[in-house]
Parts: sequence; C-alpha cells; structure tokens
Amino acid sequence: MRFAVENTLGKLAKWLRILGFDAFYKPDLSAEKLMDIRTGRILLTRTGRIRFRNTSQKRIFITSDNSFEQLREVIVTLGIAQKDVQLFSRCVRCNTMIRKVGKDSIRKMVPDYIWETHGAFHSCTQCGRIYWPGSHTRRSRDIIKRLFK
Ligand SMILES: [Zn+2]
Repeated sequence: MRFAVENTLGKLAKWLRILGFDAFYKPDLSAEKLMDIRTGRILLTRTGRIRFRNTSQKRIFITSDNSFEQLREVIVTLGIAQKDVQLFSRCVRCNTMIRKVGKDSIRKMVPDYIWETHGAFHSCTQCGRIYWPGSHTRRSRDIIKRLFK
C-alpha cells in the first residue's frame, strides 16, 4: 500500500512511515502537484476542490485536523489491520526502509550513553539516520495500541 501525502498532512505522513507504509511526502508538494507527478499511489488530501477533478487516481479525503484521527481515517477506510503494520521498518525522515546494523559500525554516530545502553541499532540506507529502541518507540507503541483498539 503506497501513499502520496499532500503538504498539509506532514504529521500523518510521519505516522504512516512509523507504521511501515510507503508515504511519499514533500513539504512543497500540494495535492494538485502530487496528482500531476504521481500515479499508482493513494492520494491523501484535504483539499476540497480536487474532489471534482476527473481522474482515476485513488483518493482519500481526510476530514480531521488531528493527526491521530487522520491516521484512523486512513486505517478504517482501507481496512488496515494490525498485522499489516511493520512498525519501525522505515525511515521517518526520508521514507526509505531501514536495516539492522552492527553495533560497532555506528560507534561514532550516536551519543556515548545511547551506544552503551542499547544493543540493537538500525540505520537508513538513504540518509544515514540511526534508530534504536527508546522512549519514542514506547510512546509510538502506546499510540498504535489505541489505534487498533
Ligand atoms: Zn532516511
């Protein structure tokens, strides 16, 4: 399931990536621009005027202003189940799949305290960002639990 997310829905794009979904998003790309350049992706938009544009592109109109509710709208509309989610498998910053890396190979790339207290690290092959299970992960898991309740 691949998405193109309009520029007013940045938080929603971030959440979709946390859930492991391919969410194309650029801060300067409106829904109209996305319709011009992207095909084969489900467009997530709250731009009312493109509702009348004649196109075969699949669209979901987001109605909520709250990012958690927006995420729920996508999940309910598409019937996404918790088993479809691959939590923390994708880079939140650039949408690339992340991969497990050896602890020694990232020694200089994370703060000492983090390196010493964590065993498992992942890195993004595109932008190089390093991920580890931290408080952010726990908070995300709580939100996902609520999402599928
Ligand atoms: Zn990245």
